[in-house]
Amino acid sequence: MKKPFRVLALAAIAASFAFTMPFKKDAKQINVVIDAGHGAKDHGANIDGFTEKQLTDAVAEKISQLNNSEDVVIHFTRVEDNFVSLEDRVKAINALNPDLMLSLHVNYAKGDTKSGMEFFVSEQSNAYQKSAEYAEILSDKFENQKFKVSEVLKAPFFILKKVNAPAVHFEMGYLSNATDRNYLTSEKGQEQIAATVLDFIKEIK
Ligand SMILES: [Zn+2]
Repeated sequence: MKKPFRVLALAAIAASFAFTMPFKKDAKQINVVIDAGHGAKDHGANIDGFTEKQLTDAVAEKISQLNNSEDVVIHFTRVEDNFVSLEDRVKAINALNPDLMLSLHVNYAKGDTKSGMEFFVSEQSNAYQKSAEYAEILSDKFENQKFKVSEVLKAPFFILKKVNAPAVHFEMGYLSNATDRNYLTSEKGQEQIAATVLDFIKEIK
């Protein structure tokens, strides 16, 4: 009976390490967590049958599909239409200890005039400086392609405060604005956003 018990115990130790230890890092690689905001019962912004949770998921998936670099390793906080609490997202991200966490969202305002992309970081983050620097680079990448972008904004969002890695909250546009909605819900728009995010990741690598 002793031997099988040992094997089981070792397997349990290996499994617990796999869960709690950051993966072995390769110096050439960059590890990025893409956090598709919302999911399942949490629809986020919602208009004309379009939901924020679907759009964040679609862009996250395109980032994965378009990534052709072995040195860019993309991780996700949710797959498909699952509900994952903010606390569980933070736990998973901090266990991974990535080089960057990018949270994808879609904005909504009363009325239809507000438009454009917004980038948020938290001053309460351990990695505030790096987060702000990354948000600036990402914002510039979109601005260079004639997207309307905000300054880098500060917000005390839970996930931004609690994630140990550099963390940026990216509002990709306003679902309440017709022009933004058209590109956010189009394949081409989603692909352009995903490709720009990948360009940015390669730049900070
Ligand atoms: Zn959101």
